[in-house]
Amino acid sequence: MTTTRFAPSPTGYIHVGNLRTALMNYLIARKAGGTFILRIDDTDPERSKEAYVDALKQDLEWLGLTWDRVERQSERLDRYHAAADELRAMGRFYEAFESPTELDLKRKKQLNMGRPPVYDRAALALSDAEKDALRAERGAGVWRFKLDQQRIEWNDGVLGDISIDAASVSDPVLIRGDGQVLYTLASVVDDTEMGVTHVVRGSDHVTNTATQIQIIQALGGNVPSFAHHSLLTGPQGESLSKRLGTLSLRDLREQGVEPMALLSMMARLGSADPIEMRADMGALIDGFDIGRFGSAPTKFDVADLFPLTARHLQGLDYDAVAERIAALGVPEAQAPLFWAVTRDNITTLHDLEGWWTLFRDGAEPVIEDEDRDFIAQAMAMLPEGPLDDSSWGTWTAAVKEATGRKGRGLFMPLRKALTGQAHGPDMAQVLPLLQVIRARS
Ligand code: GLU
Repeated sequence: MTTTRFAPSPTGYIHVGNLRTALMNYLIARKAGGTFILRIDDTDPERSKEAYVDALKQDLEWLGLTWDRVERQSERLDRYHAAADELRAMGRFYEAFESPTELDLKRKKQLNMGRPPVYDRAALALSDAEKDALRAERGAGVWRFKLDQQRIEWNDGVLGDISIDAASVSDPVLIRGDGQVLYTLASVVDDTEMGVTHVVRGSDHVTNTATQIQIIQALGGNVPSFAHHSLLTGPQGESLSKRLGTLSLRDLREQGVEPMALLSMMARLGSADPIEMRADMGALIDGFDIGRFGSAPTKFDVADLFPLTARHLQGLDYDAVAERIAALGVPEAQAPLFWAVTRDNITTLHDLEGWWTLFRDGAEPVIEDEDRDFIAQAMAMLPEGPLDDSSWGTWTAAVKEATGRKGRGLFMPLRKALTGQAHGPDMAQVLPLLQVIRARS
């Protein structure tokens, strides 16, 4: 059965880049009728925060990316240590004692000699007595996985055939000196034991994948299918890494971006297919194919989310926004009309508040000097009694008759006097919503 996972580290808020990974894994699982696991990569006790776990769940729920179960790495440490013991027993795991400064020095020397900066495996030559002495002097060492120095190959769902020479990669550290299990080991044990069949993640993980394949094979697990999507850049191709903090999902939500706008964009951005506004998750699932994505960095402009949000809102029925409109204090009887009037004139739902304030309190009238008498005359002619969508027609016909004005010269001064704006929704619909006039009638 198809099983995917989204595996965030709870060390910050999730952002548009993480969302892409989450969405792709979600869509693959749902399309295949499989399982989507939310895996919390929290083996780093210092940087992982419970508040971020809660936050990322809220963010995924907001988007409708529901998971079938949650796994937490911090609760599975015994599994990782058991795997480490297995690797040790088969001679694929060794302790190394170089300090970061020493490693740095080694790398610099190698680079100076024009050689790739790969860990030289000096620790493999240490005798037991030497290790004991180093341990006594420096404390426990780190544990490295001994790679088989041959080519590692896989067919990547986005990048195609990949071949990496293991001799060009350092033996990865899987356990730190203080005993902390690192991501590479934890991830591999989880993917194997949880039956993960497809791993989609950012292309910054390609080298990890090479080493992970060997660890999975050493542990006798099944190697999943891997796909590495490109990383997002800014609109000019600039790196987003520093700006991702401001592109968190919660910021976007606060700015009024609608989930379907964000999801529709992310399900297509960087693929050979155009972005299409989808109405619901089902349509997104049907239209998704990871094979259509390219390896080139993907340009992302946050501004593009707003026209998509506006388009999405235009397609919404009143029922979808009823609660939100009620919360503004719009009387229930007028609420459907309020939505019909405003939905083509907003970018985000936040804009509803401005419209309601205008309808409720009236606008600061904009009246040109030459229109003063005209407006006074017209206002005096407002129909008595409750206003409905025929009132504007009746009223302006009478005003036209009485003043001889017509067309723009008739309608525009009235619009500006009543709404304070030269543009906006159909006045026939606006008039019955103007609470000041209702109160007076
Ligand atoms: N916690 C890792 C990350 O956020 C997960 C990578 C993976 O999908 O394996 O980068």
